[in-house]
Amino acid sequence: MDDATRARYKVWMRRRILRRIVMPGAIFLVLLVGVVIGLSFFGSDEDDIIYSNEVTEGDEFATEIESLAQPVSALPTYQDFDFSTYDEESIVEIGVDYLNSYLVLVNKVFRLPEDYLPEDLVLPEVLSAWGHDNTNHRMRETAARALEAMFGAARDEGLILWIASGYRSFEEQEYKHQYFIDTHGLEAAEVMSARPGHSEHQTGLVVDVTAASVSALLTEGFANEPEGMWLRENAHQFGFIVRYPYGRMSLTGVGYEPWHIRYVGVPEATYIFENDIVLEQYIFPVQRWEQP
Ligand SMILES: [Zn+2]
Repeated sequence: MDDATRARYKVWMRRRILRRIVMPGAIFLVLLVGVVIGLSFFGSDEDDIIYSNEVTEGDEFATEIESLAQPVSALPTYQDFDFSTYDEESIVEIGVDYLNSYLVLVNKVFRLPEDYLPEDLVLPEVLSAWGHDNTNHRMRETAARALEAMFGAARDEGLILWIASGYRSFEEQEYKHQYFIDTHGLEAAEVMSARPGHSEHQTGLVVDVTAASVSALLTEGFANEPEGMWLRENAHQFGFIVRYPYGRMSLTGVGYEPWHIRYVGVPEATYIFENDIVLEQYIFPVQRWEQP
C-alpha cells in the first residue's frame, strides 16, 4: 500500500467507523435519554398517588369521597392534631348522611352519635375464638358476607381464622373505656381504648381477628404468624383493610393493630392496599396531607 492509498484507506476507515459505530451509538444514546426522561416524567405520578385522593374524572368514588369530606372542611390542621389532649371542641359528630356509608370515618376526632345502631347487623357464619352465639360478633350484612368469604378462602389455604370481636355498642365502649381509666389511669386509657362514640366497632364494619397460633389473643405477634401475614396480603380482595398499620399512628391516632380489620368495599380496599395509605388519607382531600 503506497502512502496515497494508505491515506485514502484511513479516510475510508474513519467514515466507516463514523457510519457503523459512532452514529448508531449516538442515536441509541439520544433514544435512551429520551426514554429515561419519559419514564421519570410519567413515573413521577406515582408519588402523587400515594399521598393524594385526587380522583380522575368519571371515577365512581369521586362524589362519595367529596361528600364525606364536606362536613369536616373546617379542620385544616387535622394532621397536626394533638391526640393526647383532644377535647370536646375538637370533636366532630358524624352527620346522619354519612353514618351508613361503608366509608364512614370514625377516629379520635370523628364521633358516632350515642344512639347510632346499624340496622342490618347479622351474625357471620364463621369460627370464633370465644364461642359462636355472641352478639358482639355481629357485623353489618355486607361485611359479614365478605368476612365469611375471606375466612373460607384462608381455610382453603390451610389457615384457620377466628373472629374475636365485631359490633360493640356505645354503652359497651363506654363501659370498656371506663374500665381502662379505673385500672390504668386516664392517660393510659386514652391510648389503650377509644372513647365511646370513637370506636370503629360501633359501625358494625369491623372485626378483630385472631388464631390459635397466638392463643386467641389480640397481639402484634399476630402479624408474624401465617394467619396474620395472609390477612395483611389478602384482606383487600374481600373489601377489608388493616385499619391501623405499623408506623401510622400520626395519621390514625391508633398504634399498630394487625388484628383489627375494617370493611370499606373491594375497590376502595384495593386502592388503599396498593397505595399503602390509611383511610384518613383516602377520605381527606390531598392538600391536607403531607408525607408521613
Ligand atoms: Zn378492634
